Amino acid sequence: MRLEVISIFPDYFGVLQLSLIGKALADGLISLDVHDLRDYTHDRHRTTDDTPYGGGAGMVMKPEPWGEALDDVLAAADPSAPPMLIMPTPSGRPFTQAVADRLATAPHLVFACGRYEGIDARVAQWAATRMPVLELSLGDYVVNGGEVAALAMIEAIVRLVPGVLGNPVSLVEESYAASSDGLLEYPVYTKPPTWRGMDVPPVLLSGHHGQVAAWRRAQSEAITARRRPDLLDHPDAPGLP
Ligand code: SAM
Repeated sequence: MRLEVISIFPDYFGVLQLSLIGKALADGLISLDVHDLRDYTHDRHRTTDDTPYGGGAGMVMKPEPWGEALDDVLAAADPSAPPMLIMPTPSGRPFTQAVADRLATAPHLVFACGRYEGIDARVAQWAATRMPVLELSLGDYVVNGGEVAALAMIEAIVRLVPGVLGNPVSLVEESYAASSDGLLEYPVYTKPPTWRGMDVPPVLLSGHHGQVAAWRRAQSEAITARRRPDLLDHPDAPGLP
């Protein structure tokens, strides 16, 4: 999988050199190119923002540097398979595990990280004439820039790429996974069996796989019903049988 990021803060993405994503990069399972949007400006101050038409607070990212950066990305892409452009924005469709599943099979993803009040809307409009564009939200809150959102999305997507996780079975019984019917995960425990007066549920020490599976399923259903009842009828989740 080929990943590219366009940002005015390329250093943000240094953390991707750590841990499992860093290993996937070192092993060549994925590649990552981070482009500094300011390299596509032509003024002394390397300006990427301007005042909003219509007035109002804050600044808006200018379309010209974005256009030039995306021209470069497209010129270096496989012409028969243009990349998919991911534009993180609080007004996008929710980024869910189901979306991560779908994106994990894409060969080439480009993340466009907004700042200020966002990117001039014509950039997404123009980009959609050249490549698939997905405007995705990390959640129902606003952060300062698309970098944090892109990092979270990259981590969620890349860990699904075959070979990235040491034990792919870890993906099977996870929160939100289709294989878990979209439910939240059950509580997990490790040694010692008693800690500060609290015992691990005895069924987990029983060695009885059927009973363990039934207990975990019941816990998942109860936690989901209590904390996230919306998941039980979410369109991306198969929900409870
Ligand atoms: N004015 C925008 C609004 O109210 O929708 C918020 C702009 S925010 C301060 C700047 C940038 O951060 C956005 O362009 C986007 O790239 C990113 N961002 C902020 N919150 C986000 C979220 N929940 N999901 C994805 N990206 C987000």
